[in-house]
Amino acid sequence: MIRITQVKLPITHTYEDLLIRTAKLLRISDSQIKSVRIVKQSVDARKREEIAYSYVLDVETDREEQVVKRSKNSNASISKEKPYQFPASGSGTLSHPPVIVGSGPAGLFCGLMLARHGYRPLILERGGSVEERTRQVQTFWKEGKLDPNSNVQFGEGGAGTFSDGKLNTLVKDPMGRNRKVLELFSEFGADPSICYVNKPHIGTDVLSQIVAAMRQEIIRLGGQVRFHSQVTDFSIQDGALQGLIVNGREEIPAEAIVLAVGHSARDTFEILWKRQVPMDAKAFAVGLRIQHPQSMIDEAQYGQEAARILGPASYKLTHTCKNGRGVYSFCMCPGGFVVNASSEEGRLAVNGMSYHARDGKNANSALIVTVTPEDFGGDGPLSGIAFQRRLEEAAYQAGKGSIPVQLYEDFKENRISSQYGQIVPQFEGRVSFANLREILPESISDSLIEGIDRFGGVIPGFDRGDSILAGIESRTSSPIRIHRDGQLESQVKGLFPCGEGAGYAGGITSAAMDGLKVAEEIARRYRPIDESVGLA
Ligand SMILES: Cc1cc2nc3c(=O)[nH]c(=O)nc-3n(C[C@H](O)[C@H](O)[C@H](O)COP(=O)(O)OP(=O)(O)OC[C@H]3O[C@@H](n4cnc5c(N)ncnc54)[C@H](O)[C@@H]3O)c2cc1C
Repeated sequence: MIRITQVKLPITHTYEDLLIRTAKLLRISDSQIKSVRIVKQSVDARKREEIAYSYVLDVETDREEQVVKRSKNSNASISKEKPYQFPASGSGTLSHPPVIVGSGPAGLFCGLMLARHGYRPLILERGGSVEERTRQVQTFWKEGKLDPNSNVQFGEGGAGTFSDGKLNTLVKDPMGRNRKVLELFSEFGADPSICYVNKPHIGTDVLSQIVAAMRQEIIRLGGQVRFHSQVTDFSIQDGALQGLIVNGREEIPAEAIVLAVGHSARDTFEILWKRQVPMDAKAFAVGLRIQHPQSMIDEAQYGQEAARILGPASYKLTHTCKNGRGVYSFCMCPGGFVVNASSEEGRLAVNGMSYHARDGKNANSALIVTVTPEDFGGDGPLSGIAFQRRLEEAAYQAGKGSIPVQLYEDFKENRISSQYGQIVPQFEGRVSFANLREILPESISDSLIEGIDRFGGVIPGFDRGDSILAGIESRTSSPIRIHRDGQLESQVKGLFPCGEGAGYAGGITSAAMDGLKVAEEIARRYRPIDESVGLA
């Protein structure tokens, strides 16, 4: 295959235009092109009047080396991309199926790969199935009735199920795991374009179906998925795992346990620490979520006309404050909602979500500031969790159990808002006006004000007085890191910390990639339970 980069075309181009342009860049006729595969499609909006797609393509022709040579095009070369390869299985014997704790992206992709290679994994999930969970989350948003085990953070599909389902990640992986994850998402129902668009996203409505389809595949291949099965303890003898306890009573023996519990499994982290599983406190970030009219963002980024073709615009903003702290936008949700993403009684956290169409009126993102163990005020690996809990309790109090909201002009003036301005609020979950300055440490509030004012210089109107703020955004990544060695194993033999909760991923795709990594490690050690199964 010939790989050709920087193939630029106007955003209104047709497939024929792409063929003709490619042939021209390779100095051949388009009839010589046998096939074209889009490897990457990104938007170049640097020149507003010439917004264009920029492509990386794999092109099939005859005598490809000659074509590349004759094209004299430095952006053309012979593609060297290696497809993802699952390792050959090891020789060790498993007396029990591998157990995976948690069915978020890390647990689910780990389970799928192990099932596809005959390991018949058992997945234990504390929350409900995605169908049940969707009902529970809707009830919570409408009536405020929280199920601490089945909510926006917990349940089949994990934290990312009620999300915008953005799949982009900064993790570079020479083994092709990133591409493999996207291919698997599209195999189970996502639009195949996620494999090449620059900022792929799925949306919560489509993600829920994909998660259920993956579950059925794991079960079809001899795996088990058990809901309402919370791991409440771990039996460790002589530094090695013997098994785990489910729902405080049932003992399940196992030699290989994948711990993919996500960043909000605070009770599970407390048990692990009690069982002396080595871990550290880890820096993360906290802040507020801000809403603006999506049309305002579209106008600023590439104009309404282009937004009709490219879809709602997104943004990425960052600023270093005079106090040395960094403020940055995170998990931006075009055409989305700010949601109540709490998982503990008496504590309130927010996050963002969009449906596949991203056709909501507002754009929202978290504006967050990094906090480190020095900020946590306490020591030990669980000090970050205590810090999060204090903020979330303050948010719960300030909002009287509902999402505390405030207009930006009132946040700056340290007073409670009494009504909205022109922006129509877009929330999932009940809201109540409150003074968010009372929730946040002063240094964080000051940093946010400095950042928002600065961002107003980048996106006109970003600092408008009626921007809607809501809090607290506290679950941006895991507050701990569970130690693991080069073979991805904890000092406690048989325990494989995995995904975001363990501190090795940030986001849906990187968590799923880490799940693949751990599945590979288990396969390298052990023979499959069912040697007859072996799928890609
Ligand atoms: C509202 C929201 C929107 C988000 N939007 C995006 C986005 O658009 N793009 C993106 O990349 N990331 C997004 N994220 C972050 C993303 O969801 C996480 O990074 C990702 O889900 C981490 O995957 P994971 O498998 O490591 O953990 P999780 O997805 O958190 O899954 C952990 C699972 O373990 C289960 N569990 C926990 N404790 C136990 C126990 N003791 N016993 C049994 N089961 C247990 C939980 O119920 C959960 O299902 C969002 C998160 C939220 C909350």
